[in-house]
Amino acid sequence: MTINRQSFWDQDTKTGLWRIVLEYQDKRSKALDKNNLKEESFREEIYQVKSQALAQIDQLKKQAVVNLEANGIRVFEAKDDNQARKIIEKLLEGKKRIIKAKTNAFGEIDQKGFLSDKNLQETDLGDFVISLLGEPEAHPVLPALHLSPAKIAQAIEKKYQKKVAPTAKGVAEFARGYLRKKINQAQAGITGANAITADGKIVVLENEGNISLVSRLPQTHIVVAGFEKIVPSLKEALMVVQASAIWGTGQDWPAYVSIIASPSKTADIANETVIGAQGAKEVNLILLDNGRSRLIEAGFSELLHCLNCGACLNFCPVYHQIGSHYGDKYLGSRGVVFAAFSASFKKAKSANCFACTLCSACLENCPAKIDLPELMRKLRTLLEKEGLQTRENEKMIANIRQFGNPFGKIEAGKIPKELYCC
Ligand code: SF4
Repeated sequence: MTINRQSFWDQDTKTGLWRIVLEYQDKRSKALDKNNLKEESFREEIYQVKSQALAQIDQLKKQAVVNLEANGIRVFEAKDDNQARKIIEKLLEGKKRIIKAKTNAFGEIDQKGFLSDKNLQETDLGDFVISLLGEPEAHPVLPALHLSPAKIAQAIEKKYQKKVAPTAKGVAEFARGYLRKKINQAQAGITGANAITADGKIVVLENEGNISLVSRLPQTHIVVAGFEKIVPSLKEALMVVQASAIWGTGQDWPAYVSIIASPSKTADIANETVIGAQGAKEVNLILLDNGRSRLIEAGFSELLHCLNCGACLNFCPVYHQIGSHYGDKYLGSRGVVFAAFSASFKKAKSANCFACTLCSACLENCPAKIDLPELMRKLRTLLEKEGLQTRENEKMIANIRQFGNPFGKIEAGKIPKELYCC
């Protein structure tokens, strides 16, 4: 068997998932209306913003580095996950209490044992819950969507000997109290970025408020982000924020948007600038490549338009069946394509490259108009050239060679034993 079809969801969760998706679809159109946006023209604008930025990414990156450093933000470029881990370990030397907010790029470089001596604490509620239960992420925006409040409350009670109401509110209240203490004690905070501007600003959106705390309260702030997050200016960055909110959660605007232009500072006394007032004293940005340059070189740059909103998964028939088994560090078809260039073609195959139905539901729902079905088709061609095709494909080709059809020997009046669909 070459396709991993293990079940991820139980039947109740599958039904619940459709309920969430249909509510989301309704909220998304209302959010577009509230912002007076026409869906197709806004998607086209986002497509243009991202493709034009990528077309001049080397130039924008150079400008961003110069401007961020001029503002006192240290910038590191990591060519791969290994290099990124080394930079982070160095930045965290001597620090023992680290907090983290949602960052997908960090997920690319995280490895068992990495930072195990740092008491790394997740502060995003969904990520906190899945790390507590040792579960995989079920969705980039709703990582714990497959877990019931009752199951989570039980796990909290077991681990922290604390009775928690088996409701979303009960779990959120517990996490607020528990995580606030960890945040106050932390020496460094790790976040991602939704956009970085060539004129030197890091833009992060959120609803929970944890990202603001993680980026401001500890002395050291580390941002981990792919270089494709760079856009020319705040105008484009705020379009990315708006699209991420609308397509991510169906909101017209997120609860908070932080624009970080430098470490915290004050000139209140004697007009002398002192770095480190109430916010982070050091801001470090790690710009991650990790296969992105290879993606661009191989003609897959459209994948880097991704805002990580998760909308492509919401309507994907494969994801609705096999959940987290579809993809790798990122879920779904974009995770498969990313795996091919950040890890290997073999990894893309085991991430279920051949499970995609090419139905285009992802493309229709993507704010950045990424033609994922076309990218999957292109990737399959490359995989097949490397001999990494499915057993079914091999059999069809052998049948065509031998019998002139994909099904094998045809006997009059009989249905072939194995029917394939390509
Ligand atoms: S591929 Fe498109 S829909 Fe999917 S997460 Fe990225 S931006 Fe969102």
